[in-house]
Amino acid sequence: MEKEILLYNTLSRTKEKFKTVTPGMVGLYVCGPTVYGDAHLGHARPGITYDVLVRLLLHLGYKVRYVRNITDVGHMENDADFGEDKIEKKARLEEVEPMEIVQHFTIRYHQAMKMLNTLPPNIEPRASGHIIEQISLAKNILEKGFAYESNGSVYFDVEAYNKKYLYGRLSGRTLEDMISNSRVLEGQEDKKSPFDFALWKKATPEHIMRWPSPWSEGFPGWHLECSAMSSKYLGETFDIHGGGMDLLFPHHECELAQNNAARGSGGVNYWMHNNMITINGQKMGKSLGNFITLEELFTGSHKILTQPFSPMTIRFFILQAHYRSTLDFSNEALIAAEKGYKRMMQAGRDLAKLKTKEGEASKEIRDLVKGVYIALCDDMNTPITIAHLFDAVKIVNIAKDKGSSITKGDMEQLNFLFNDIAKEVLGLADEAVVGDNSAVLEGVIELLLEIRKEAKSQKNFAKSDAIRDKLEGLGVNVKDTKDGTEWAL
Ligand code: ZN
Repeated sequence: MEKEILLYNTLSRTKEKFKTVTPGMVGLYVCGPTVYGDAHLGHARPGITYDVLVRLLLHLGYKVRYVRNITDVGHMENDADFGEDKIEKKARLEEVEPMEIVQHFTIRYHQAMKMLNTLPPNIEPRASGHIIEQISLAKNILEKGFAYESNGSVYFDVEAYNKKYLYGRLSGRTLEDMISNSRVLEGQEDKKSPFDFALWKKATPEHIMRWPSPWSEGFPGWHLECSAMSSKYLGETFDIHGGGMDLLFPHHECELAQNNAARGSGGVNYWMHNNMITINGQKMGKSLGNFITLEELFTGSHKILTQPFSPMTIRFFILQAHYRSTLDFSNEALIAAEKGYKRMMQAGRDLAKLKTKEGEASKEIRDLVKGVYIALCDDMNTPITIAHLFDAVKIVNIAKDKGSSITKGDMEQLNFLFNDIAKEVLGLADEAVVGDNSAVLEGVIELLLEIRKEAKSQKNFAKSDAIRDKLEGLGVNVKDTKDGTEWAL
């Protein structure tokens, strides 16, 4: 199925027709987490956004090589290139090895991403495992004259770079503006200009994570890893580079500069950025007391929440907004999302029980499928996709309420919307029937309700009530209607 996709490119600031370097094959690099704390809401949005991108591309028949890194070295406090390494700081506080911190939080991150039903990347490289590649890239940039050595550290020469390539193109800044708005920061004595950034840092005596290099025993600058690892696994020019808006500057701007400096080309055809999450209208931050980890959301243990919210409610909530819009989290908005998600999943289950008759698919439903493709291929418009899916929910509910049958053609199209689109592309798993045992579970519940019906017909109400109560106790909602018994999880 040949479908044209439009993707918004941060670099050109327009939606562009997506074309791959190699036909049928997509190279995607996404900046992953710096693993020094639990996965939080800020991780959920890029995790889900790029997961839907991967799922959509796979659905459209592309092969995807999805690379998402783990930052385990060189990311300093406040994104600076002096001061303390975030992971080392945590290791010092906990009195453990930095790599124990990395291992612990990498496992936790994987668990959280799995709960959110995101597909794992095909390659997940760690910065500390690619020191040789980073040293070689720094050497290359030095040789090209866009970096200099100073007291055992190597810095990128932003001014020299800016003369040939404009620095700030990706984030929409100019070096002149940056200079006029700058203030002098401490720890910058080695640099020619405060905008120069570290490719390699000489380690101070107390610094733990250190490697030998031609310049000093030290460690790579944060931005270097993504230029080195993306080109290693995806080639010098690849299709899509994604990440959160918070990474646009300085991280991605510096990555682009490194690529140009080393290879004379930016290396990335489409830069994608998901927008940020606010909480009750405020930026999320530890000092504001609104910093929410995913575990706190799943258990409802944060003070601004009145209840736990399941991973699929979070996923549904995030997909209700376009990835380039800001998204405001609140307890109330999550409650509404939970209702919407459950309604959609219930309709998917009800669809399977509708009676069918011979006949083609109606124009109304064929148009819904068409609308879904138009929305998804228009820079991944998930809110419009979800709106179309709710039109399908309405159709299912009407047929169910009336007890009418639908044509086989309609059934096929509706199944496509609920299974191929909602479940496979949007990744909305049905939490009520997750796992390989879903069919068995459904069968057992139906069987018990069958026995209950028999008991009722024999006027054995004690038995029929006991079955209902036991099921209710297990979270199965049983409702008797004039047409029979309905159940929902
Ligand atoms: Zn990165």
